[in-house]
Amino acid sequence: MTTSERPAFRLTPQRAAVLEVVRAATDHPTARDIYRRVRARQPGIGFATVYRTLNLLVAHAEILELQLGDGAVARYDGNTGHHDHVLCEACGAVADVRVELPALACLKAEAASGFAVSGYELQFRGRCRDCSRPDQETAHAAEQAVG
Ligand SMILES: [Zn+2]
Ligand SMILES: [Zn+2]
Repeated sequence: MTTSERPAFRLTPQRAAVLEVVRAATDHPTARDIYRRVRARQPGIGFATVYRTLNLLVAHAEILELQLGDGAVARYDGNTGHHDHVLCEACGAVADVRVELPALACLKAEAASGFAVSGYELQFRGRCRDCSRPDQETAHAAEQAVG
């Protein structure tokens, strides 16, 4: 699958910069994070343009928008292959994980809901390595909360 086969949107230099920043990131950045990184390449770009571009890229399935946690700000993922996430409840770090559910799990979900289940997404929660070190706990979480 290549992007040129689709009725593609026009990939302006600004849009290309946004796409490249999201694809290069492994930390599942927020729109604000992406804005800061894109501005390093495209100094004139505004937050509204970055935000609109993110929505456009999500609509074209070039990137994923993730809602992790209750009412949490959206995070963006350049990895569009099926994978799951683990969220640090202390600092908000997000890592990719790939965990296979037993096939029976989908059947159980179908039986319980009456839906024809076609897929699933898993979201694990806990504490990242930095936040689970007892001595680092408060310092690291405070540091991340400021950023
Ligand atoms: Zn953490
Ligand atoms: Zn991911």
